[in-house]
Amino acid sequence: MTHRPDVVIVGGGVVGVCTAYALVERGVRTTLLERGEVCSGASFGNGGWILASLSMPIPGPGVIRHALPWLLDLESPLYIKPRPSLELARWLWRFRACCNSAAKLRSFRLRRALALASLERHAELAKIDGVESGFAQRGILMAFASQAALRDAARDVALLEAEGGIARALSPEALRARIPALTTQLAGGFEFPVDAHLRPDTFVRSLAREAERRGLAIERDTEVLEIEWSRRAPIRFHTTRGSFTADEGVLAAGAWTAELARKIGVRLPIEPAKGYSVSVDRPDDYPDLPVSLNEAEVVVTPMGSRLRFAGTLELAGLDMRVSMRRVGAIRRAVRTYLPGLPSPVREEIWRGLRPLSPDDLPILGRPAGTSGLIVASGHGMDGMALGPITGELIAQLALGEAPRFDLAPFSPERF
Ligand SMILES: Cc1cc2nc3c(=O)[nH]c(=O)nc-3n(C[C@H](O)[C@H](O)[C@H](O)COP(=O)(O)OP(=O)(O)OC[C@H]3O[C@@H](n4cnc5c(N)ncnc54)[C@H](O)[C@@H]3O)c2cc1C
Repeated sequence: MTHRPDVVIVGGGVVGVCTAYALVERGVRTTLLERGEVCSGASFGNGGWILASLSMPIPGPGVIRHALPWLLDLESPLYIKPRPSLELARWLWRFRACCNSAAKLRSFRLRRALALASLERHAELAKIDGVESGFAQRGILMAFASQAALRDAARDVALLEAEGGIARALSPEALRARIPALTTQLAGGFEFPVDAHLRPDTFVRSLAREAERRGLAIERDTEVLEIEWSRRAPIRFHTTRGSFTADEGVLAAGAWTAELARKIGVRLPIEPAKGYSVSVDRPDDYPDLPVSLNEAEVVVTPMGSRLRFAGTLELAGLDMRVSMRRVGAIRRAVRTYLPGLPSPVREEIWRGLRPLSPDDLPILGRPAGTSGLIVASGHGMDGMALGPITGELIAQLALGEAPRFDLAPFSPERF
């Protein structure tokens, strides 16, 4: 009989929970360590987009020139808090190296392949009794206020179509026919009929419950403080609530993964990229169709009786403080693009830290020189979309099977 390793996963976000589910589904004894409640990090209040069509990486040609005026503007969609950090300087240097057409195309193809596989898996998971994700594959819209931004996006759309993707150009009238609250001052937009959306917190928490039903042990309020690792002994996690030993340890701690890996001398270029969401009661006549307010980099997602506006990206380290100026920028974008919305009712503000790698590809695999340790992080803006396929790939790695995708482009050693 083949040996099935015991696995301990650190982190109860979408990546940790999808990995746990994939493992228990394969009959592997699995424990998940989460320092708070399951789904209390970036996976809780995000935009819920399951994007497989225009899954462009953040770095690309012209991105630095385009973003430069924003960098020190506290209300811009992208803000870098000035701070003396060698890690940040190295990260920015690597990011800059990816700002060219060849890197963008390569990254787009890799991201899209993962995202399409993950979308399929999402659809399967949504059918499981007990998983309440509100998963809806109704497509998504992108709305542009300026002709220049619309023209730029048309180039990406042409790239998508060349790769077999589907997009429809929409006139301002066609956009407003779908979402009547949109402004009349639009240049136009696109519809991507393949993409989906869901309610992230209910998805992750109900999947965790299903995994528990299938044997997953979840240790809540259990923070990993130290990791003990050697070639001869199984990996050991020392936590606020005792120690846990496993044949395989999976680091899926989102924006905190780099900090954890550093404890055993593994360096991972993951920058916490803070974003915010504002959720309100959804007006009765607001359609169940997500839209991005493109120049403002805000996505609008209906989630049952609620409507969520999510966006902004702030590189400020592991800092959970709320900047009301950035929340204000989201509210202003909503008023500008969606003047037809009534005043917000029961507003809820949330922030989260995306784990962002400099090439905007996830980091999946075993760091060199280690055994019994797998990294599953760096999903940036797309962790909700990529969670299910990540879970499958990490389970395959842990079991010593050939992963469904070549993991070389996602290796922790690529930097
Ligand atoms: C505003 C915003 C909007 C977004 N919109 C979308 C979207 O529309 N679609 C999409 O695909 N993605 C979106 N994302 C990105 C997505 O939310 C992330 O990529 C994803 O949630 C990352 O999941 P994770 O499991 O890696 O990390 P997390 O969800 O952050 O989970 C990590 C977990 O590890 C735990 N942890 C950390 N350290 C320790 C420790 N020492 N011991 C024990 N536990 C620990 C944390 O408590 C946390 O629960 C958005 C993000 C933001 C901020």
